[in-house]
Amino acid sequence: MASTESLRETILSLPIVDTHTHLRASTDFAHPVTAYTLLNSSGCLRALWVVSGALTRQEYRQFKSLDDWESLSPAIDCVKNTAFYRILLSGLRELYKIDFDEVDAVSLDDLGQSISRAYRDRGWYGKVLKDKSGLDVICQDSRQQFDRKLFTPVARMDDYVLFGRAGWDGRVLERHGADRTSSLDGLVCCLEEDFSAAMSDGAAAIKSNLCWGRTLSFEPVGEAAANDAFAICRSSECDGRREKLLGDFVMERIARLCAEHNVPLQIHTGPAGGVDHVVGYGNPLNLNNLILRNPETSFVLFHAGGPFVRESAALATQFPNVYLDLCGVLGNQYLKRILDDWIEMVPLNKLMWGTDVNTVEESYAMVRNFRKVLSELLVERVRSGYFSLATAEEWARAITAGNAKRVLRLPASR
Ligand SMILES: [Zn+2]
Repeated sequence: MASTESLRETILSLPIVDTHTHLRASTDFAHPVTAYTLLNSSGCLRALWVVSGALTRQEYRQFKSLDDWESLSPAIDCVKNTAFYRILLSGLRELYKIDFDEVDAVSLDDLGQSISRAYRDRGWYGKVLKDKSGLDVICQDSRQQFDRKLFTPVARMDDYVLFGRAGWDGRVLERHGADRTSSLDGLVCCLEEDFSAAMSDGAAAIKSNLCWGRTLSFEPVGEAAANDAFAICRSSECDGRREKLLGDFVMERIARLCAEHNVPLQIHTGPAGGVDHVVGYGNPLNLNNLILRNPETSFVLFHAGGPFVRESAALATQFPNVYLDLCGVLGNQYLKRILDDWIEMVPLNKLMWGTDVNTVEESYAMVRNFRKVLSELLVERVRSGYFSLATAEEWARAITAGNAKRVLRLPASR
């Protein structure tokens, strides 16, 4: 007979689409790979070390590594309460079958030996992602080359939006040359070319990280004003206002291209990753007008809106073309509380999830945590009579894979 136990088991084994990650290649790591290697490779952990004061901003930016127990121990002490660390620790414990409550010099060495043994198997990386985590499709957000058998690419066009900002035009100039980008028309042609190339390359989405450096508020800008702004930005007199005008114009074009190519626009919302950013830039409500002007574009709001969870949900329940992605929500009870709200507010075809991490160990840990949160939540919802078993399973299948496959137009299975 169907029971909540069978629901739990189903959720623990459902294939998952990871909509967003930045995994480093296994070949990036110096061998032997140790526990220190993996902990220092985690952007999430390193950002926590900075905000706790365990690493200085400068050390963070210079990728300073905490390579021995003496330097790592105080950094762990500062963050060991956080959900991300707890989730990662449980994942490492289970994946490498090392039994410890908290790490110390000895348990880290034991863990390191197990890790370096595992990494001698060249297939370990793929095994963790596919067999152990049960990831079906993994959307990789990276400018570097990566294994296309494991990953689906997403593309970024932010360099075009920031083209007017000093120091941000380099990649576009390198690709297309100064002549072709000497007018706004020329710039837009190059953007369209890159966009088509990304589509031919199989990009599942266009990803924007703009709120790391500017507001997500985009005003409508006419051709004449955009041409003026372009001319001034390419002279030495550029100012923030003109730079924003040009960026707003280009972003509108990107949103339209997404509609024309039927590919979603994934937008980082909430605080930027890393440190020292303007948190309010990423308030999803800033996107309201852009969304309103582009009803044919699918907007996927990342990270549940960060601290603006209700704002992102408000957009998803106002606009048919807005979807919510919980990638990078580094929480346990916090993730559950968000889902517990959204289950009642947001239609089930609008939610998706991703890991947003740098190592396969983190992927494994995040997937494991997500499955656990989902199963606890849905078992509660079935026991309280809110959902039938069948609807609970349908909701789980939608958020773990079904919605992402449809919105990102992914093949049924890879
Ligand atoms: Zn990310």
